[in-house]
Amino acid sequence: MRLAVIGAGSIGLAIAWRAAQRGAETTVYDPEPGAGASRVAAGMLAAVTEAQFGEEALLPFMAASADAWPAFAADLERASGIRVGYRDLPTLFVGLEDADRAEVQRQIDIYRSTERNYETVNGRASRKIEPLLSHRTRGGVLVPGDHAVDPRAVHTALLTAAQRAGVAFQGETVEDLESLDADRVVLAAGCGSSRFGLPIRPVRGAVLRLLAQAGQPVPRTTVRGYVQGHPVYIVTRESGEVVIGATSDERGFDRLTGTAGAAHDLLRRAISLVPEIAEYHLDEVTVGFRPAAPDNLPLIGRTDERTIAATGHYRHGIALIPATAESVTALATGEDDTVPKAFDPLRFEESP
Ligand SMILES: Cc1cc2nc3c(=O)[nH]c(=O)nc-3n(C[C@H](O)[C@H](O)[C@H](O)COP(=O)(O)OP(=O)(O)OC[C@H]3O[C@@H](n4cnc5c(N)ncnc54)[C@H](O)[C@@H]3O)c2cc1C
Repeated sequence: MRLAVIGAGSIGLAIAWRAAQRGAETTVYDPEPGAGASRVAAGMLAAVTEAQFGEEALLPFMAASADAWPAFAADLERASGIRVGYRDLPTLFVGLEDADRAEVQRQIDIYRSTERNYETVNGRASRKIEPLLSHRTRGGVLVPGDHAVDPRAVHTALLTAAQRAGVAFQGETVEDLESLDADRVVLAAGCGSSRFGLPIRPVRGAVLRLLAQAGQPVPRTTVRGYVQGHPVYIVTRESGEVVIGATSDERGFDRLTGTAGAAHDLLRRAISLVPEIAEYHLDEVTVGFRPAAPDNLPLIGRTDERTIAATGHYRHGIALIPATAESVTALATGEDDTVPKAFDPLRFEESP
């Protein structure tokens, strides 16, 4: 079977790698692999603290993908020889002020429906778990199973693993699907998927990357929180890189407007929660575009006999790599269709 994958973000590459492992003759098309959201992301694998009201259909798929990550990471590291920075540190989600603490509390109803572990903690207990938290911090929730990975290392490893598995690469922009010489086509072009008629919009997000110097203390949990009504997260890697995210707005594909303001807002919130952050070196301000469908759920499944959509992963495209790769590879190679019906890419089409 000849498979064409459009898009060498982490979703397209993971599908290509897995399909090649199952014997598909696979070609990936992308003029600039990794130019999309995949190398911008913070890398949270947050089946609980990313759960949102209105997105309940996503929860089992997120949970399955989070649970698949440790084995997927180990397999990817073996196949590529590259470490992908999977860390099983817990996530601590706290409020800075009483109103922020109440906002965290409000989310607990949706956390309950994930049927995963979490524990409410008061201010003192949260500072014991994370000594770098500001003494002002009110309590929140401790989530032992919300882990993180390094998305840049994952993307690099997927490129290598796919190449080693025999995947071919064409450095070109695909203009129309008909012209592709393939039996099956997977459309994994992130925000570029809208060109092919899928209802995908770009949701812009800025993140900051900071570096702690040797000897500087870094958080030992992923810290998430509300600061005067606004969310922020802080993800720490083994290397001392600390990622602070993220803004969210919808102004098309503008990478520049408002970036200084975004950096200011994120730093102010992060330093309020973890004052030590003021001492780190600010290394990078990056903007990316999350590919989102009208209902913010992914578009995964057939759009016609030959084409399978694998896009619209919005805020969760790193967390959802293993589950998406597994279910799309099964579809592409003619195995069972295990994709949740809520992700049907044709769900927005009006019935005749
Ligand atoms: C600030 C920010 C923080 C985030 N944090 C997290 C997080 O902590 N956890 C998490 O799970 N997710 C996170 N995300 C979301 C995640 O980054 C995305 O959901 C995911 O990367 C989408 O991957 P993708 O492979 O579908 O798309 P992309 O990575 O955008 O890749 C799409 C690729 O398709 C190519 N392409 C486009 N059009 C064409 C065409 N016509 N022909 C050929 N190639 C084409 C592009 O060049 C690009 O390389 C974050 C996103 C942002 C912006």
